[in-house]
Amino acid sequence: MIVNAVYGIVIRRTVVVKLAVPNERRDDLCETTAQFQQAAQMVADRAFERDDDGYVITSKTKLHKLTYEQVREATNELNADLVCAARNYAADSVKGVTSAWQNGKYATHPRFTANTVVYNKNAVTYRDNHCTLAAINGRVKAEYILPPEGENPQTEYLRDNEWELRESTLHYRNGDYYLHVGVAKDDEPQEAEGGTVLGVDLGVKTIATTSTGRMWSAGYLNHRRREYETIRGSLQQTGTESAHRTIDGIGERESRWAEDYLHRISKALVQEAVTHDCSTIAFEDLTDIRDRMPAAKAFHVWAFRRLYEYVEYKAAEFGIGTKQVDPAYTSQRCSKCGHTERGNRPKQERFYCRKCGYEVHADYNAAKNIGIKHVHAGQKSPRGRANRQLALKSGTLNVSDEFTSAEVSA
Ligand SMILES: [Zn+2]
Repeated sequence: MIVNAVYGIVIRRTVVVKLAVPNERRDDLCETTAQFQQAAQMVADRAFERDDDGYVITSKTKLHKLTYEQVREATNELNADLVCAARNYAADSVKGVTSAWQNGKYATHPRFTANTVVYNKNAVTYRDNHCTLAAINGRVKAEYILPPEGENPQTEYLRDNEWELRESTLHYRNGDYYLHVGVAKDDEPQEAEGGTVLGVDLGVKTIATTSTGRMWSAGYLNHRRREYETIRGSLQQTGTESAHRTIDGIGERESRWAEDYLHRISKALVQEAVTHDCSTIAFEDLTDIRDRMPAAKAFHVWAFRRLYEYVEYKAAEFGIGTKQVDPAYTSQRCSKCGHTERGNRPKQERFYCRKCGYEVHADYNAAKNIGIKHVHAGQKSPRGRANRQLALKSGTLNVSDEFTSAEVSA
């Protein structure tokens, strides 16, 4: 399969906004929440009745066909967009369960009891000072409760046209409604147009690999992790609620040694960026990293996020920025000639380009692609002339892929 990779960076944030819901509409929102949860439960229940081959159903399309009529009938006042959002919400939780099973973890049939409603873009309308939410008995208009302008970051996200307002979730907590608004924008970098980028690839075996060819093994982390898992295994057999809760989470004692280890790696990573005079360290977007890495456990996802946070914090002390770039095709693309094909990666650890024959460690190839994406993103800058370059083992690579040789550092 040959694909065209599109380069670009999308920044995503969630903005929490307190809402003023008119008293006479609170019951309607409450009933909407109940019916939304009921709809999600019906979909999940159907998913666990399994298909003809005995598999739990995770496909949204299949679940739609199997449940839509029934759910609409049972929740007859619920807006059709909310019925769809409930189905997607349920399908995602079911998928979470089946992927936990695939990783040999404990997980059960989801129960929907939260005071939460997912609002896709059809079910919510955003305005400068308020939003309207699909609800039983018609849309509810709710004013935003915001701190004074200039003192709150929410306003920037909600009113700045640069940010696109996407799906939201409505939460009810202690008598108040909060809207968690998903916002996104294409990155038009305002920082130094030029500068050198250090690309970093994250992995389950090699926790971090840089475009300059440095690698940090995850061996120690994985080893300690397995030891803890054995302890947990015996905990799990006791079958108590609290034991279950620790299984996917990270225990406190466990997190301390891992944090210490990740701190050290983050220091070395930042040092690598300093050595190569980099102005930016680029990582892949961590949002859906677990879906892209079948071997990753919840622990790895936790470790990647922590590592990123530490790097972000430490890099800032040196005036170095950190970015997350769209991860699409970074593992299938040849960092030498740009040829993108799934077959370029015959084995987990090896990259072999079917077009130019470039053969290299797969993580190193990915790290270069991640850096290259950030270099290319500079092209879109309004000030034109992209003069970003990628830090490499033996020099730098600029946006027109012209190689500039430089001093080789150890
Ligand atoms: Zn190639």
